[in-house]
Amino acid sequence: MDKKWITIKEVTLNNNCPECYNTNGLQLTFKQKFIENSLYRSITNETTQAIYCKTCNTAIFPVMWTEDIERVFAYQQKAFTPKKASIKLKKKAWLFITLFSVLILCGILLAILYK
Ligand SMILES: [Zn+2]
Repeated sequence: MDKKWITIKEVTLNNNCPECYNTNGLQLTFKQKFIENSLYRSITNETTQAIYCKTCNTAIFPVMWTEDIERVFAYQQKAFTPKKASIKLKKKAWLFITLFSVLILCGILLAILYK
């Protein structure tokens, strides 16, 4: 099974970076977890957020957040709508389901015919 975190939304923040104090490097990223295997592709409702400073190339963990960053983050999180959780079956899955149904139908028919 393949799990992927896919970026849904990226927001540039104007806050000071707690590391390098630059105001043009912070970026907030919202990601959502996708699962894919040979039978289906699914969007989960699991999301994650991260702040990264492009200027000093540092991941800004929540422990380093200033009050301002927390405020902006809370606002952005409210504005963020994740994709709806869903499951899409692939062709192979449909093929299995069809084959399985046909087999069951055959089984029932045989049972009726050769009672
Ligand atoms: Zn920085």
